[in-house]
Amino acid sequence: MKFISTRNKNAILKSSEGILQGISKEGGLFVPCTFPEIKDFESLLNKNYREIALLIMGSFFPELGVDYLKESIDMAYDTKFDNKDIVPLINIDGINFLELYHGPTLAFKDMALSILPYLIKGAKKVENINEEIVILTATSGDTGKAALEGFANVEGVKIIVFYPEDGVSEVQKRQMITQEGDNTFVVGVRGNFDDAQSGVKRMFNNRNFSKRLEENNYILSSANSINIGRLIPQIVYYYYAYITMLKRKELKKEEKINIVVPTGNFGNILAAYYAKQMGLPVNKLICASNENNVLTEFLKDGIYDKRRDLALTSSPSMDILISSNLERLLYHLSGEDDNLIDKKMNQLNNKGYYEMNNLDIGDFYGNYAEEEEVSQGIEYLFKNNGYLIDPHTAVGYNVYEKYKLETKDKTKTIIASTASPFKFGSKVASSIGIDIKGKDEFTILEELSQKSNIPIPSNIQSLKNKAIIHKNTANKEEMEDMVKKFLDIGDKDD
Ligand SMILES: *Cc1c(COP(=O)(O)O)cnc(C)c1O
Repeated sequence: MKFISTRNKNAILKSSEGILQGISKEGGLFVPCTFPEIKDFESLLNKNYREIALLIMGSFFPELGVDYLKESIDMAYDTKFDNKDIVPLINIDGINFLELYHGPTLAFKDMALSILPYLIKGAKKVENINEEIVILTATSGDTGKAALEGFANVEGVKIIVFYPEDGVSEVQKRQMITQEGDNTFVVGVRGNFDDAQSGVKRMFNNRNFSKRLEENNYILSSANSINIGRLIPQIVYYYYAYITMLKRKELKKEEKINIVVPTGNFGNILAAYYAKQMGLPVNKLICASNENNVLTEFLKDGIYDKRRDLALTSSPSMDILISSNLERLLYHLSGEDDNLIDKKMNQLNNKGYYEMNNLDIGDFYGNYAEEEEVSQGIEYLFKNNGYLIDPHTAVGYNVYEKYKLETKDKTKTIIASTASPFKFGSKVASSIGIDIKGKDEFTILEELSQKSNIPIPSNIQSLKNKAIIHKNTANKEEMEDMVKKFLDIGDKDD
């Protein structure tokens, strides 16, 4: 299948090329030229997660070959996931929580990042590329670890992760700085996620830098959700959830659902929008933000304005002011106007805002949750249903409650549950009445486990005794030098 850049209609690639390149040369993101139609739900009723994944990924990535994809999917979605359904759908109080956090790093990023290394390997083979791939990634906390986990010790790949030093949870940080594998590099950036992400984007767009890499037999790629190899695998679980509801007879034929997504970079909710384009019966896509509510404002008045301080919240993976994947939605909704998108995105870069208020964004509803509301949501579900959710999911839960109040809509609804509550233990514990003052993270997790009667996930438990391997930190201006140092390709004359 062909993919096209949002900022240049002449940049058209095969899926294998798009997966390797990550981002288009002029800064645009690749989007599918057409959407395959998948809506014969009768025939999907007997398929498991892997089989649905093969159907969907096969239709976007035919170049990789169906046999190769099947093999990859079987290896990616195996016992690394601690639940045989891969993504269990849990009905609490009439709401379906789609638990996307049963993978190795306990957040939804595993859904795509456990398969991305296989997609890249396959694409390299198809494109006859022998150079080593350098995966350069900025993380708000969860992508970094999931990418490290997926790419550690993968031959022919090096992975470099930049995370905001003070913008991730204790568990997230530990997960990254204890990462093993000779091909892994982790750096704490003195700044916030947007600093890290902009630094990475700058490297991608820096001709001299990529030339230097090429001279040394490296090719740059990305594990961020700008990569279509991240985006497409995320469509699968929305189909899977719908089919599960059909099987449980919660839905009539062709009955629509709402999908609530706690949103940061707009990747997860965009995958749900893509599912809708492919024929999944979706009513509203509910975009839930935390106090960094840029998207809420944009969906309300068509003005995207990032000129404000980034708030550090208890849902750090959503502490983002530049939601990269929104660009893809704008491209589709603007009638695929690459010139307009190029102009608006440059304006965002230069002036910090843009206005696009004549788009039909009726598929979406946006709102946000404040810290206090996040705590209340966690507490309410635990007290009344014994169900524990993490702060990101709680943002989704709160925004859904606001949506229901405002609209009285009774459409059956799925909330994307994006992380294990044990990844964000302090906030979850304090929300359900555990006194966390002066206690270290592991003590808090133990108390949380006792009170909730849920064992601490083993992948978090084991962090306690792991050695810290990665101690590098950098200012945002030093990121490029760091990469050169790791790859041993420093400037010859300095
Ligand atoms: C990344 C992440 C999000 C936000 O997803 P986007 O695709 O960036 O919108 C939400 N919750 C958790 C736990 C995450 O890791």
